[in-house]
Amino acid sequence: MQSEIKLSGKTALVTGGARGIGEAISRTLGACGAKVVINFNKSGERAEKLRDELRSQGLETEIFQADVSQPDQVDALFQFIRSYSGRLDILVNNAGVIRDSLLLAMNVADWEKVHDVNLKGAFLTTRMAAELMVSRHCGKMINIASVSGIRGGRGQTNYASAKGGLISFTRACAIELAPKGIQVNAVLPGFIQTEMTTRAMRRAGEVLLDRIPARRFGTPQEVANLVLFLASELSDYITGQAFPVDGGLSVS
Ligand code: NAP
Repeated sequence: MQSEIKLSGKTALVTGGARGIGEAISRTLGACGAKVVINFNKSGERAEKLRDELRSQGLETEIFQADVSQPDQVDALFQFIRSYSGRLDILVNNAGVIRDSLLLAMNVADWEKVHDVNLKGAFLTTRMAAELMVSRHCGKMINIASVSGIRGGRGQTNYASAKGGLISFTRACAIELAPKGIQVNAVLPGFIQTEMTTRAMRRAGEVLLDRIPARRFGTPQEVANLVLFLASELSDYITGQAFPVDGGLSVS
């Protein structure tokens, strides 16, 4: 029985890993010994600060700017990983955006943006990561979807469909990659306190809290804890699953 999770010798990529839930995941995987490549798109300064802080704790960390929805930028990211480490053991598809509006007001640009980052981005990185993992016959992929992907959400036709697609993508990948020693799972956060949710919580905090059986919002660390388990050998027989981290929201 293993009492402590160790990821020494492993290399992890966290997309959108410089802030919010991604930052907690980068910190957690790093603290357990993984070399972490922190991908960012716009948050360059925060990525540099996080890298410097983790390095000052003796952790091996690199940062790399790439928009995950752009194939050429994802190619460059994986070229970097190949030269930095030559391997990839853990992929966390965390990068995500919301562009909420009601269906009748939803414009094509907002539909496409949300699908491009949340779903196409995960496809692009997963395809590249699978190449690296298949050759070593092992690997962990964790897709950060959302409870919206199984429950829907008012004003979220774009986001709910992208995250629902990501959950189905997870299952289909799991079937293809299980024989190759790779596990693929999804984590479905409920309401987690980050910049993504600040506005909604300020606007409708009490109403939202009433919908959560635990009567509180979650923390990024609580999502990272499950990601850590799914990134470790403890979860080797679990694949194609979608796990809510939501204080009971999805069963209420
Ligand atoms: P957040 O604070 O808004 O952070 C979003 C992250 O995604 C940032 O690191 C951002 O990087 C990155 N990102 C956005 N577009 C990108 C792109 N084109 N390429 C690369 N990275 C990109 O959001 P969060 O709350 O931490 O959310 C993290 C994940 O959890 C998302 O997938 C989100 O959908 C999901 N989620 C969150 C909640 C919640 O309650 N917070 C609930 C359900 C699901 P830059 O800043 O560098 O651009």
